[in-house]
Amino acid sequence: MGKQVHFKCRDYVWDGVELIGYKPAQGNADTFKNVSRQNIFMHDEDMDFDSRYFECGKDGFTTLEKHEHVHVVVVMRGKGKVIVGQKVHDVSDHDLIVIPSWAEHQLINTGDEPFGFICTVNAKRDPFGLLTRDEMDELLKNEEIKNCAKVPAGYFN
Ligand code: MN
Repeated sequence: MGKQVHFKCRDYVWDGVELIGYKPAQGNADTFKNVSRQNIFMHDEDMDFDSRYFECGKDGFTTLEKHEHVHVVVVMRGKGKVIVGQKVHDVSDHDLIVIPSWAEHQLINTGDEPFGFICTVNAKRDPFGLLTRDEMDELLKNEEIKNCAKVPAGYFN
């Protein structure tokens, strides 16, 4: 038997792909809300990247974070705001966002439907990093970011 080549998708769940939590259990659960994850392609001996499908449910958002590795994000469903560095982008179906190295970023569902996107990263990458209080204060001086950024109470714990 060769490797599985066709993974049928039904309602944004791929056959044979496990629906899991956004971050590993060790992660700080207070930095994000209502996000699911499917590892739709993980690197192997032939390919050196990982593609993950994330979905933010109603009022859901990812961690406001930064790190060295780059994200290539393609929106699959719903509507959201994406903070990238000093800018906020309104995105919808099939929009493409490329998040550069070390740019602060967060993806936020702003609609009533789930906000889903495929995010591709290098297989070999640094872990995500939270912002310090000083970095957060600096970022939130930007009014547009302040108005949409989600920073749960437990963020700095
Ligand atoms: Mn990230």
